[in-house]
Amino acid sequence: MNRVSSLIVLIGVEDTPIIFVVAEWRKPGMNSRVDELLVSAALAIASSRRLVAFTGAGISVESGIPPFRGPGGLWERYDPSILDIQRFNQESAASWKAIKELFYDHWSKCEPNLAHRVLADWEARGLLSFTITQNIDDLHYRSGNRHIAEYHGSLRDLVCRRCGKRLPSLSVSLDHLPPLCPDCGAVLKPDFVFFGEGIPEAASRAAAEAIHSCDCLLMIGTSGEVYPAASLPPAAKRRGAVLIELNPRPSAYTASIVDYFLPFGACEGMEKLNAALLDLR
Ligand SMILES: [Zn+2]
Repeated sequence: MNRVSSLIVLIGVEDTPIIFVVAEWRKPGMNSRVDELLVSAALAIASSRRLVAFTGAGISVESGIPPFRGPGGLWERYDPSILDIQRFNQESAASWKAIKELFYDHWSKCEPNLAHRVLADWEARGLLSFTITQNIDDLHYRSGNRHIAEYHGSLRDLVCRRCGKRLPSLSVSLDHLPPLCPDCGAVLKPDFVFFGEGIPEAASRAAAEAIHSCDCLLMIGTSGEVYPAASLPPAAKRRGAVLIELNPRPSAYTASIVDYFLPFGACEGMEKLNAALLDLR
């Protein structure tokens, strides 16, 4: 096993110890605190009984999807009220025009990146039990994850709130806005959570169960500022889970509840973490 380890050298005469020497050795090229943290995080993952991932906008930035918040985020260019449910109900054509520009003209063409693919691989290998995502971009599902709580819904489907009909977004023409239900004629709505709406019940319940049963939580690219999702990692911490954070910059969680902070973007960090896991074998 190539990893930082403690070495205790015991020199003795018969059963009587005389000298203890405590030293450390490192894998060649492993020379930073961050490398040590990567190994520690990999060990925590490898020894966990139930690993859960908690993802935010940062995991999808490298797929070309801009975050809502922060520098360069969508809210610098768009008024957040376009995603207010009351405005959608009152001005559905105008809301849909912005929704089409924001999401459907661009996001459906984006592909899962290496970080999404590693999580899907971990799930397939039984290493990852569950993923809770705040993202609506469908990229976890498209990369192969199936045990997911899409906490804010997804742009994958459009739904009719009058008759309940559900349609894949890609099957619905957006040439004329707003798109209408083919069965009852009501306005179709993207199946993600608008401002003023609650968290989908099934996703909320599944996320709570995952948080309550996990012993290791891997947080990727989340700022920890959007509630109620932001309350999930502290709940895992209170129940004794080890918390690993992968983020290029510290978040609201870093100094308070995180055990291992890995200062990387999602793809670079997941590649390193995956390599560290393989090194443990
Ligand atoms: Zn309908």
